[in-house]
Amino acid sequence: MVKFCPKCGSIMTPVRRDGKIYMKCSRCGYEVEVKEKEGRKYSVTYQVEANKRVATAVAGEAKERKLSPEEREMLSEFYEIFLEEFEKEEESEE
Ligand SMILES: [Zn+2]
Repeated sequence: MVKFCPKCGSIMTPVRRDGKIYMKCSRCGYEVEVKEKEGRKYSVTYQVEANKRVATAVAGEAKERKLSPEEREMLSEFYEIFLEEFEKEEESEE
């Protein structure tokens, strides 16, 4: 679910402003408003992608070196906070 800028071809990322969701080009700044239903889809996909990245990073870290129980605890806590932040963001959307 990646949208490309019609002007310069760069990847566009979803941004929230005034309760609306826009797809914004990170290179030239071109923006297009996303319809609510569609935006929800983008938003969810974006979150899933972000979560996957963290999970991958955590897994990679654990693979590289043995983690102590404390470190594991810390990582899982970090992951929980990360997810909570996303949920908060969702709640404050309106
Ligand atoms: Zn662009």
